Amino acid sequence: MNVLAVGCHPDDLEIGCGGTLAKLSSLGHKVTMVHVANGDKGHKIIPPEELIQIRRLEARKAGSLIGAEVVSLNTPDLLVKSDRDELISKLVKVIREVRPDYIITHPPEDYMKDHTEVSKAVFDASFSATIPHYNLDEGIDTHDKVAPIYYMDTLAGVGFHPTEYVDISDYIDVKIDMNNSHQSQIKWLYEHDGIDFLDFVRTVSKFRGLQCGKAYAEGFTQCQAWPRLTTARLLP
Ligand SMILES: [Zn+2]
Repeated sequence: MNVLAVGCHPDDLEIGCGGTLAKLSSLGHKVTMVHVANGDKGHKIIPPEELIQIRRLEARKAGSLIGAEVVSLNTPDLLVKSDRDELISKLVKVIREVRPDYIITHPPEDYMKDHTEVSKAVFDASFSATIPHYNLDEGIDTHDKVAPIYYMDTLAGVGFHPTEYVDISDYIDVKIDMNNSHQSQIKWLYEHDGIDFLDFVRTVSKFRGLQCGKAYAEGFTQCQAWPRLTTARLLP
């Protein structure tokens, strides 16, 4: 299968579904990791232009650990707008190129606007990608189906009630390694949010594991909108 994961910032997918992406990749599925925002404001000292480059490299390093392709849509932090056609167009292009069997992204409710805007934009783009008269100037075929969408966990799991779980017990170490690739954020999240980033990621994975009888897990819900539903279990 082709799996497209769309996160907001360069570390969000690693936090929310890194173990699942690692598992998918090891099972032979193709994984594409997209981050919409470039992360230019995620540091106290490093200036935005320099930070963009650092974070792009960190994301590539994380993706390389599981053989995933990494794509940056280069939207500045705090300026992600789902009602701007520019963002929808970029996402449609990615969806038409990747042709995903399903998409993983943020849930419609999360802790900051950039995240929720990504969720809305992915929902809209997954439909628009199938419309022949929408932006065909890229010369890429429309996607042949409105891809099912799975929502990954919120930050710290707040207000999120998974309906499906993925056992990532064999992938927790690579998940931690992926997150550890984001060295700039380990410093930033300690200074800005007072959290030990890697401990945070491990704890949420363990908490989700407790809920489903596994050592470590990640939780998901499925987007409940026609025609995105399916009888198949698509998550690994
Ligand atoms: Zn984020």
